[in-house]
Amino acid sequence: MWERLWQLLFPDQCHGCGRFGTLVCPVCIAQLERYGGDIPVCGAAHFTIAFVYAGVLRSAILVVKYARQRRLGSALGQLLAAQPWVSGDAVIVPIPGSSQRIAQRGYDQAVVLAQAVATSRHRPLSQQLVRVRQTTAQAKLNRRQRQQNVAGAFMWQGGVPPTQIVLIDDICTTGATIAAAIAAIHHAGPCQVHVVVLARGAK
Ligand SMILES: [Zn+2]
Repeated sequence: MWERLWQLLFPDQCHGCGRFGTLVCPVCIAQLERYGGDIPVCGAAHFTIAFVYAGVLRSAILVVKYARQRRLGSALGQLLAAQPWVSGDAVIVPIPGSSQRIAQRGYDQAVVLAQAVATSRHRPLSQQLVRVRQTTAQAKLNRRQRQQNVAGAFMWQGGVPPTQIVLIDDICTTGATIAAAIAAIHHAGPCQVHVVVLARGAK
């Protein structure tokens, strides 16, 4: 009942155009630039990057990251789940963000995305991939520095990984973080890792 009252008082509004009814409307989704470029080499069995990090999607991701808009994060997760990639029998796994930034914002945006993907695709979610070392922000580093920065940053906790995993992340730039995450999973046991990313950032 409270949720209904809340919806009446504060109806959902599209982040892109302000239209009422959804957080990201179909018109704005149709205008997003699909990604068709190269895919980073990182040990993934399949790699899907849905969109280019630009326009409405870029500003929506930034709002989820810095302005505590968790529900918009879930809407982006649903958008990612609706894209044509195969989840099969895979377990959905987010690439965890840095704990400092999670503390600032109150949630991990990759986890919010992955939860929405898991729910939409009716797949289980696992958070056994953990960050064991904090890393500095990647934005100002070159490719080699990024690889060094994230090497050994992740660990798979709690035994052998499932046979198939779909790794979820919001932005991929060089793929260094994803490569480090996949290395950590493979270190724990054999596993086919598929990567599904919302947007490709500029290098
Ligand atoms: Zn819109």
